[in-house]
Amino acid sequence: MSNIIDQYRITQEPYYRPVADEVELFEAAYSVRMPMMLKGPTGCGKTRFVEYMAHKLNKPLITVACNEDMTASDLVGRFLLSASGTQWQDGPLAIGARHGAIVYLDEVVEARQDTTVVIHPLTDNRRVLPLEKKGELVHAHPDFQIVISYNPGYQSLMKDLKQSTKQRFGGLDFTYPEHGIETEIVAHEAGIPAEVAGKLVSIAERSRNLKGHGLDEGLSTRMLIYAGSLIAKGVDAKAACRVALVRPITDDPDMRDALDAAVTTFF
Ligand code: ADP
Repeated sequence: MSNIIDQYRITQEPYYRPVADEVELFEAAYSVRMPMMLKGPTGCGKTRFVEYMAHKLNKPLITVACNEDMTASDLVGRFLLSASGTQWQDGPLAIGARHGAIVYLDEVVEARQDTTVVIHPLTDNRRVLPLEKKGELVHAHPDFQIVISYNPGYQSLMKDLKQSTKQRFGGLDFTYPEHGIETEIVAHEAGIPAEVAGKLVSIAERSRNLKGHGLDEGLSTRMLIYAGSLIAKGVDAKAACRVALVRPITDDPDMRDALDAAVTTFF
């Protein structure tokens, strides 16, 4: 039984550069097993942060990328047909609750609302997970914690978390780190000099100012790392920025021109 969970252990310490007091706050939240919501745009470090915290707290981490086709059974578990009949298979939430993992539901707003309500009994003082089809009530292991991520930028009337879900979580805000810290992260992850990383960050800052003025979302730290990785491989900086930054983020010719101009300002 124990090897099921061992595959979710994080053996090497992930590189995480703290931005504020998020590490201490998360530790305090974990100590009382408070369910946590990490809010912020895509590619700003939420997933890396959970990986780092799971390692620091020495807990297995089960990550689930949520999508709109996901059903409650995908989280909880289901009966599968096998040669010997039907067999119950725990879903990620049941595995985490039984074995005391941190279960990270990435982009939980993407999941349908009837799916998100299955987490409710796990996020209040009951800490139970009913496996209705199996007729079993799983009492969560004392180490179990649930963490969700959430991009407020994507939210709409149709796609938002219910108040009854939101109010079960503590929240931590994530944004792109300030210039010096983001430069450090990009330089470390891409393996490029700080001077080059700093230029990439400056381009990203310009793009973030265009958010809402033609861009849905600014360039993320993740995209800067992609561009930096190409530069580290010897690709010309302007070409790397075109491929990894400008082309993916917009199809609008005027926006592309504006971003290309930002690239030529710095490279
Ligand atoms: P999110 O989950 O918010 O979409 P990720 O955690 O996947 O974003 O972050 C994207 C990448 O950016 C990570 O793989 C990591 O390389 C880098 N990153 C972002 N913030 C940090 C940070 N504070 N410390 C270390 N790496 C970071």
